[in-house]
Amino acid sequence: MAKILIATEKPFAKVAVDGIKEVAETAGLEVVLLEKYTEKAQLLAAVADVEAMIIRSDKIDNEVFDAAKNLKIVVRAGAGYDNVDLEAATAHGVVVMNTPGQNSNAVAELVFGMLVFAVRNFYNGKAGTELKGKKLGILAYGNVGRRVAHIAKGFDMDVYAYDAYCPAAAIESDGVKAVSSQDELFEQCEVVSLHIPATAETRQSINYALVGKMPKGGVLVNTARKEVINEPELLKLMQERTDLKYVTDIMPETDADFRMLGGRYFSTPKKMGAQTAEANINAGVAAAHQIAAFFKDGCTKYQVNK
Ligand code: NAD
Repeated sequence: MAKILIATEKPFAKVAVDGIKEVAETAGLEVVLLEKYTEKAQLLAAVADVEAMIIRSDKIDNEVFDAAKNLKIVVRAGAGYDNVDLEAATAHGVVVMNTPGQNSNAVAELVFGMLVFAVRNFYNGKAGTELKGKKLGILAYGNVGRRVAHIAKGFDMDVYAYDAYCPAAAIESDGVKAVSSQDELFEQCEVVSLHIPATAETRQSINYALVGKMPKGGVLVNTARKEVINEPELLKLMQERTDLKYVTDIMPETDADFRMLGGRYFSTPKKMGAQTAEANINAGVAAAHQIAAFFKDGCTKYQVNK
């Protein structure tokens, strides 16, 4: 019987683990748990005899692949998979998958939670502004970006999007205005919400020049990754442009400096975008289904290291 290791430094909710076990056991797979581990050595020991792994933000590097002699598949329960060394996985013949779309609604709802908080001056008692009629720019029209667009329409926002790899026609067919560059998005929109993955191309790409294009009173929302932000440049810009606000689900390295901006900045204490009961269950159970389909039929539909 093949073994699936659930290796989670930050564990799934119990109901998600139960859901994973049910799917796995129905498929004839055995589940073993490593939760809240504190040393890498614990992870290296746990992977020694497993064929599959389900992880969350856990770092899976070459050393882990070396230690996991029987490993065939790793599924990152979630969207971003920058915590897995894909080259090392490929070199070890291991398939890596994510579970796209399973936490999109959770992240998209948090965008609006943080956005209302920002435009109402972080609930400081002073008059703020409304979202209705404001231009919202969505940077990257993937699973989360699409969900943000859908919810934004409920707020009567004027929705724009830019995606380097999604045709404008696909964006427009959702009733969203496609712009031709990220510069244009920042120039046009009072609110910009980031949904780009952290890649070689996007790292540090949200910088002084780009955010500086935003109109007066601009609000930048980040539920993507901190790596996409050029922190020193954003901080410098916000020190100069006292009209700008920044709300983020990924605390900057220089959180203390951003806090000095005086009520124009908010960060969640830890990444909370996907932290809902629903997303937890959806992503974990989807991971189990994907592993079951991989062992049964060789299905690699969600493979990210093809
Ligand atoms: P997705 O893969 O569905 O969409 C990503 C989109 O980015 C794609 O449409 C792609 O074409 C586009 N893209 C890639 N490079 C681009 C570039 N240089 N410029 C413009 N567009 C580009 O991913 P998703 O589920 O929408 O998630 C988006 C990101 O949000 C993830 O990569 C992850 O980093 C982050 N995320 C954060 C949380 C959280 O807890 N805060 C949860 C889920 C996802």
